[in-house]
Amino acid sequence: MKKKKKVVVIGAGPAGLGTAFELFKSKNNTLDLLLIDKNDRVGGLARTYKYKTLYFDVGPHRFYTKNKEILQFWKNTLGKDLVKIKRLTRMFYQDKLFLYPVQIGDVISKLGLLTDFKIAFSFSKNKLFRKKKVPVTFEQAIIQDFGENLYKIFFKTYSEKVWGIKCNQISAKWAAQRIKNLNFLEVVKNALGQKNKAKSLIDSFYYPRLGAGQLYEKMAHVVRKNGVQILLNCTVKKIFHQRRLITSISLQTAADQKTVDVDYLFSSMPLSDFILALEPKAPSNVVQAAQKLIFRDHITVNLIIAGNKLFPDNWIYIHSPTLKMARVTNYNNFRKSRQANSSAISVEYFAFQKDKIWQMSDTELIKLATEELVQSKLITKADLVLDGFVIKEAQSYPAYYLGFEKHFATLKSYVQKFSNLQLIGRGGMYKYNNMDHALLSGILAAKNLRDHSAFDVWAINEDAEYLEEAK
Ligand SMILES: Cc1cc2nc3c(=O)[nH]c(=O)nc-3n(C[C@H](O)[C@H](O)[C@H](O)COP(=O)(O)OP(=O)(O)OC[C@H]3O[C@@H](n4cnc5c(N)ncnc54)[C@H](O)[C@@H]3O)c2cc1C
Repeated sequence: MKKKKKVVVIGAGPAGLGTAFELFKSKNNTLDLLLIDKNDRVGGLARTYKYKTLYFDVGPHRFYTKNKEILQFWKNTLGKDLVKIKRLTRMFYQDKLFLYPVQIGDVISKLGLLTDFKIAFSFSKNKLFRKKKVPVTFEQAIIQDFGENLYKIFFKTYSEKVWGIKCNQISAKWAAQRIKNLNFLEVVKNALGQKNKAKSLIDSFYYPRLGAGQLYEKMAHVVRKNGVQILLNCTVKKIFHQRRLITSISLQTAADQKTVDVDYLFSSMPLSDFILALEPKAPSNVVQAAQKLIFRDHITVNLIIAGNKLFPDNWIYIHSPTLKMARVTNYNNFRKSRQANSSAISVEYFAFQKDKIWQMSDTELIKLATEELVQSKLITKADLVLDGFVIKEAQSYPAYYLGFEKHFATLKSYVQKFSNLQLIGRGGMYKYNNMDHALLSGILAAKNLRDHSAFDVWAINEDAEYLEEAK
């Protein structure tokens, strides 16, 4: 009997599961597939935790896509468990909540005439008198579209919380990817009730009944039934190669370490980790490029709060510089029916692992989040917080810092030399991908292997079918 080809997929997030699902929609007798993840559950960054009776994602994950194939995939996989949710999101600034998308009347009434005048002046000055140049930094890109005042109020502090550096050190590529098509005119048109095509302004989204991770649990269930082995709590430590072929990987579990031979590898582990795990080592310029790619880390403080009538938003962006928290989510507003007498609230912080906040214990983080919720008056008193837990997620945001393109290009060209390897997903391709892009990358990469297709997986999310607000 012909020996089955050993295919390994690193990462059981949307991308890795997308690959496994496409290759094993029905039993596949030509491949032997092993899916490996270091977490204790599938879903990657889009996994969900059930705590007591409540469900929490790693930061809220709304389902939105412009890709019809992906939307259909979500609907087919989740059926009635995929629920359409009305969107309400606001921005917290100067102790006030501003509607997002911006509504002119709302801004005028809350900021006062002097600030309104300054906004209008800086916007028109910029539009009428400044020569349009191709922006290099995020700051230049936003000021070009919105003017200095709106930039300072609605973009600067939030973006600096997310990225941990000044906006003039962030690449314009991030603005291009995240807020494309959304310029001031679009915002105004939206405020006046005219239809516009900018993604940021969508007013509903899909969400699985039991949290984002429900989709990935379902996908995992299907592929397991069809013969895929999924190893959880298992970390890929080394990736061996020879003459431009990946030959084997070494795995570490709590109990032991072993080596698995590989005929074909898909990887969604962070690109820099992948390069640094190669054995023999990659050339020194490639190793240096990997060391220069920066990921931003993320903390979610999940809280159970007494009462089920807190704020009505799905989430609130915290622009105020005096608060460390970046976003507060009310999961009760992701459901058709409310929890009885309690609210599932998450408070998100961005960090680097060297930062003090990353070193804080769970108890300290819960205390900090509670204090900030009270300070912002999103809850009235600290003892409404009944319980909580913390998720620290390293390497969750590929950071488009100035100059990253050069290092990225070095790494991309190096990995493309391996003929039995495809990189997929968000960290895997160092791309600011959302779930739909990640899933699509996994599916298309699988088609490349199975059908000898020639999809350029790197091109996903480049030509901007998809677009989302700065968050
Ligand atoms: C806070 C936050 C909010 C978000 N909100 C949204 C949203 O609203 N909508 C949306 O569409 N997207 C959202 N995203 C993006 C979404 O989470 C990602 O696009 C998606 O999860 C990427 O899927 P992936 O499979 O490429 O990577 P991941 O989800 O990162 O999965 C990679 C997997 O690889 C595993 N892994 C890594 N290294 C190793 C190793 N050495 N050995 C074994 N396993 C390894 C990891 O454990 C992980 O499970 C959000 C992301 C974050 C962080």
